Amino acid sequence: MDARPVLKVAVVACMDARLDLHAALGLELGDCHTIRNAGGVVTDDVIRSLTISQRALGTRSVILVHHTGCGLETITEDFRIELEEEVGQRPAWAVEAFRDVDQDVRQSMQRVRTSPFLLHADDVRGFVFDVTTGLLREIDPAV
Ligand SMILES: [Zn+2]
Repeated sequence: MDARPVLKVAVVACMDARLDLHAALGLELGDCHTIRNAGGVVTDDVIRSLTISQRALGTRSVILVHHTGCGLETITEDFRIELEEEVGQRPAWAVEAFRDVDQDVRQSMQRVRTSPFLLHADDVRGFVFDVTTGLLREIDPAV
């Protein structure tokens, strides 16, 4: 099997255990790259993977999937301070907590669109996965 994703798509999604990405998007093995972290946040490391995905492995579209009931809605940036109090060191990374999942998807789309390293950065779509119904809702980037 060729290492290049058949559908030329890279998916960035939250690591949530209830989100079966391939099932939700109707994808088969070999169709896409999958990049997951807590919140599906577009961090510098996600941009690194997307850049390699596009420039070395031929993907051209980016799909972002966040979801209802995300753990990042229930914690705050205070999480970093609590960690520092416990272990004596504050992490360098931001928690990237959020309150409005639609707005969080828009921000992630914006980060992909404005990255100077990515090709065809206009082909970016964002969705919210409903963990109760199993349905995806597309987010309008312009609202
Ligand atoms: Zn989540």
